[in-house]
Amino acid sequence: MSRAVRVAIIGAGLGGVAAAVSLKRAAVDTFTVFEKAAGPGGVWWQNTYPGCEVDIPSLAYSYSFMPYDWSGTHATQAELQRYVEDVIDRFDIRAHFSFGVGVERAVWDGARKAYTVYTTDGAEAEFDLVVSAVGMLSHPKLPDWPGLETFEGPVFHTSRFDHHLDLAGQRVAIVGTGSTACQLGPAIAPQVRQLDVYQREPGYVLPKKARVFDDDERRRYRDSPVRRRIDRLKLYRTGHRSHDALRVGTENNKKVEAYFRHYVARTVRDPAVRDLLTPNYPYGCKRPVYASTYFPMFNRDNVSLVPHAVVEVAPDGLIDDTGTKRPADVLILSTGFQAASYLSTVRIQGRGGRDLHDVWAGEPWAFLGVTVPGFPNFFMLYGPNTNGGFSMTTQLEIQAEQLVRVVRRLRRTSALDTRPRLAERVDRWVQGQIAVTMSSAGAGCHNYYHAASGKNVTQWPRSHTVYRIALRALSHWVLTARAGGT
Ligand SMILES: Cc1cc2nc3c(=O)[nH]c(=O)nc-3n(C[C@H](O)[C@H](O)[C@H](O)COP(=O)(O)OP(=O)(O)OC[C@H]3O[C@@H](n4cnc5c(N)ncnc54)[C@H](O)[C@@H]3O)c2cc1C
Repeated sequence: MSRAVRVAIIGAGLGGVAAAVSLKRAAVDTFTVFEKAAGPGGVWWQNTYPGCEVDIPSLAYSYSFMPYDWSGTHATQAELQRYVEDVIDRFDIRAHFSFGVGVERAVWDGARKAYTVYTTDGAEAEFDLVVSAVGMLSHPKLPDWPGLETFEGPVFHTSRFDHHLDLAGQRVAIVGTGSTACQLGPAIAPQVRQLDVYQREPGYVLPKKARVFDDDERRRYRDSPVRRRIDRLKLYRTGHRSHDALRVGTENNKKVEAYFRHYVARTVRDPAVRDLLTPNYPYGCKRPVYASTYFPMFNRDNVSLVPHAVVEVAPDGLIDDTGTKRPADVLILSTGFQAASYLSTVRIQGRGGRDLHDVWAGEPWAFLGVTVPGFPNFFMLYGPNTNGGFSMTTQLEIQAEQLVRVVRRLRRTSALDTRPRLAERVDRWVQGQIAVTMSSAGAGCHNYYHAASGKNVTQWPRSHTVYRIALRALSHWVLTARAGGT
């Protein structure tokens, strides 16, 4: 006998929306999406800093089920936000969303084979399946520098950008040089009096080649689904090729390093600044940045690269690790996110009341990032070791497809759990694959991929295709209705 499966989805970013649309398309309408923010979009809702845009071409960074009339190669934050809203309306699923309601806890009841979900509005409700779509880059990493609270000017993290502030004529300090800083800096440099960019370690910055589509191109993409699909496939092919460059000892790895050196030489006038912007570790050790306007920004008279870490904050400036103080009126923290702290906003309690965070003990892992032994009927999108491939929307879509298969199985059985031995074997294979990528190359590699223990908990080391095949083929064996216990 088939039953209606009640599904709670936590988070309305591109992951939660992909899950909701996939369920709706599979004729499942017994789902609720809880989103603690006032609207959908996730990172694209939270990050509104000047210059914010995707660094993967939009033709690939979008759902296969919702092509769009993109204005250019790379969508801005505002365009992506509109896209998410349009997806929700196009599939007529808005009524399923509860905005401004966070999930605090989900507790498995072994007798009822269901979760009780507790939300921030004080309500509780029962669901057969809980789906985490809380993302990986939504929890800012904030520094604890001595004196930070004494700074007299505005201080904010890039994901909480203060749009009321007039930056014209101000001395602005940006701390951090990841993707966000590389977009923000060039966007504000023309307005400010002085921009200091604090760099702890240089990154591989490669040109993005972003451009606006002309009317003909837009018409071609609008009118020809075949053209659109071919160009999307071409992007994946290029993306997968560049993926090869992330592996240790490949010819492509060396080629990208050479290309980088050529690029920095071409774009940065001052040879001393050029040297400071050049990494002394191999390509792939940390996430590369795609930005065409970042390096040229250092040719401006009002922009300085400070090649040091900040160690202290004074009321009127920042002190770096050489003890030098530089004045600042506004401090912008481009310090990234707590990527390895999976599910930090929510408590999931599985069999025997065991807390997922206790089970993980600081080292999150899951069967291909989606399920964890001892946590029946609990599913994740963008879970541990699934960051990578090429475009995260594709990875999320693959997981949403798998979610639909899980719901179909749950129509006929009350609980599905993960076989621990098989899941552990798959995890060992994933870690073995990671070991031959550059993100593991050498002790000097600093990136956001690792837990405190040193285990890489964020990255998927192969292509989307390998992920899709593995997830599809193995889930049938790894997820079982026969696991015992309550
Ligand atoms: C600035 C920026 C640029 C990026 N650019 C790219 C790119 O170019 N290419 C790429 O592939 N990826 C990029 N990413 C990665 C991005 O995280 C993914 O592409 C994708 O958007 C993740 O979607 P998500 O739904 O999984 O997570 P998120 O977008 O993080 O959404 C998670 C949602 O869950 C909500 N939430 C969290 N906890 C709770 C709770 N307890 N209860 C209720 N709601 C909760 C949050 O409020 C949030 O809305 C970028 C990320 C950032 C921050």
